[in-house]
Amino acid sequence: MLDGKVLLVTGASRGIGRAIALLAAENHAHVIINYNKSENSAAELVSLIEGKGLSASMIKADVSSEKEVKDMFSWIKEKYSKIDVLVNNAGIMRNSLLAFTDTEIFDQTIGINLKGTFLCTRYASNMMRKQKSGKIINISSIVALEGNEGQTVYSASKAAIIGFTRSAAKELGRYGITVNAVAPGLVETDLIKDIKPEIKNKMLSNISLGRIGTPEDIAKVVLFLSSDLANYVSGSVIAVDGCQTI
Ligand code: NAP
Repeated sequence: MLDGKVLLVTGASRGIGRAIALLAAENHAHVIINYNKSENSAAELVSLIEGKGLSASMIKADVSSEKEVKDMFSWIKEKYSKIDVLVNNAGIMRNSLLAFTDTEIFDQTIGINLKGTFLCTRYASNMMRKQKSGKIINISSIVALEGNEGQTVYSASKAAIIGFTRSAAKELGRYGITVNAVAPGLVETDLIKDIKPEIKNKMLSNISLGRIGTPEDIAKVVLFLSSDLANYVSGSVIAVDGCQTI
């Protein structure tokens, strides 16, 4: 489905980003695996993909750092001369009640989740505009739509991504670039490992499909949005949550 496409996934060393990168590679994209701290996991993923006779490379960049993002895109330009798909997936979640949420949590969460999405989109779209094509997929969350106790800052960062997605879609459409968001529900990754089992079970009882999502559930929707099947989809927010939000 993605033959010959160059696809960058931010935060692809673990969790949802890893599954997105793997499925894209299995669909014959050349995947660029961005990571920040988990170098070994990123290297293992490259080996796994190359072991299947498919194509991948990895690059370290903290998406909240303008310099590192700029360097990452200079490297992509030099090595591949193009970028077809950007998946803004890198994110953190630091839960705390508002009264206990200090400014450092705010700055870090907004820095990685929102500023990282802004920076990568700006650099990628500069290349895509010249190509007159491109697909950008931003990973939001259903808490952007619903809110959640203990997640004021996280949900704000994810809600901002939806506004950013819709505005960027309007601005970039004339260049043949689509911009969409995926809003996952609860997905089994390291991000949710500290949620207490009783709270997880309570959340589970609100999911019609009766199970927590897997990273692959999200990756399949991202694959669709990355492919030509979604050429007329832009500015959309797709919840992938087992029917938790309605
Ligand atoms: P995860 O397992 O904790 O993985 C997070 C990934 O983000 C890691 O690969 C990590 O890379 C990367 N990352 C963190 N800070 C970074 C930075 N400054 N620069 C570059 N990469 C960075 O989380 P996940 O569950 O897969 O979450 C992926 C995305 O889905 C996030 O945006 C999250 O908000 C969203 N989401 C998750 C859920 C869920 O239930 N899991 C639900 C809704 C939305 P390193 O380890 O290399 O630093």
